[in-house]
Amino acid sequence: MSTCKGYAAKTAGAALAPFSFQRREPRDHDIVIDIKYCGICHSDIHQARNQWSDYQEEVIFPMVPGHEIGGIVAAVGAQVSKYKVGDKVGVGCYVDSCRTCAACRADLEQYCTVQTVWTYNGRDKEGNPTYGGYSNRIVVDENYVLRMPGNLPLDACAPLLCAGITLYSPLRHWQAGPGKKVAIVGLGGLGHMGVKLGHALGADVTVLSHTRKKESDAARLGADHFYATSDPETFTKLAGSFDLILNTVSALTDWNQYLDLLAIDGTMVLVGLPEKDIPIGAFSLTSRRRSLAGSQIGGIRETQEMLDFCGQHGITCDIELIPIQRVNEAYERVLKSDVRYRFVIDTASLNKD
Ligand code: NAP
Ligand code: ZN
Ligand code: ZN
Repeated sequence: MSTCKGYAAKTAGAALAPFSFQRREPRDHDIVIDIKYCGICHSDIHQARNQWSDYQEEVIFPMVPGHEIGGIVAAVGAQVSKYKVGDKVGVGCYVDSCRTCAACRADLEQYCTVQTVWTYNGRDKEGNPTYGGYSNRIVVDENYVLRMPGNLPLDACAPLLCAGITLYSPLRHWQAGPGKKVAIVGLGGLGHMGVKLGHALGADVTVLSHTRKKESDAARLGADHFYATSDPETFTKLAGSFDLILNTVSALTDWNQYLDLLAIDGTMVLVGLPEKDIPIGAFSLTSRRRSLAGSQIGGIRETQEMLDFCGQHGITCDIELIPIQRVNEAYERVLKSDVRYRFVIDTASLNKD
């Protein structure tokens, strides 16, 4: 075992504070990664504050959040073939899965029907709690490690591991591209990646934001159109417009209103994960043969494809780099939609405590 330094919520809703914990010694297929950067995903806040208690069977504290990890390989196990010391690598939302179920065999490890081992707030195959990327090191099986784009800065690529793949996967699955009208609801960490990726795939991209504050940013990120959902006219003007809506909103909103913006055979994909159920009216779906769907991150193969795509197209996240000592303040700013567009922790700051 080796001792690691990180920041943890000791109990649900507690401010994050310095925390020491143990990680396993590397096994034959393990990679030891020196974590350089870790993005702050809204899911970290939901979980550190135990806001998904209606949906999660177990919540484990102390919790070291963080699943947008960018780092450098520090050591490799005896049988590792994919990576070597010094490689720029990433780790996303999960660090293992059963590897044999139909989902795992179809490269959909995030939907493993036996056990997806979440990067934090989960348990490994031995039943030990997992700890995430707000820390200095992590040990991960090579099959669940990603290669980061060599030509792009590691800090601005770290959030691709969750925010990037969570939007890339549904954009690809529902075939966003030339001639497709795509709306991104919520211009936060996920949403701004949806705009960049949707634009790079050739779709016509509209941002639906709850205020007008981010209008000029949306255009700079690649959006073709922008509407504020606080303006009631938006919903009449855009009724029946979109082939695909990717809804990234973390808060409770009326999904029926957004469904009404879909064209015939259009689909709204939920990726935002509000803490309570939201009722849906049957007429919202039947009137134009609309679909309501959901999507969760992406498989390892598709995550690598997304990283390579970002490398080819020069796509990174817009980030605000912070020392870990400011993580609690960053959480409050995320909750106020006051982040442009992802906080990333510089883990070198762990040495300052
Ligand atoms: P974020 O940066 O906080 O972005 C969420 C955006 O939602 C905000 O920027 C804001 O955009 C909008 N919003 C917030 N409060 C709102 C309100 N009261 N009414 C209307 N709009 C509001 O969060 P994120 O990291 O992108 O994550 C978004 C959600 O996705 C979270 O629930 C997270 O847990 C979930 N998530 C899901 C997956 C998955 O695999 N499905 C993966 C990662 C995260 P505007 O200011 O533009 O309105
Ligand atoms: Zn996330
Ligand atoms: Zn499986």
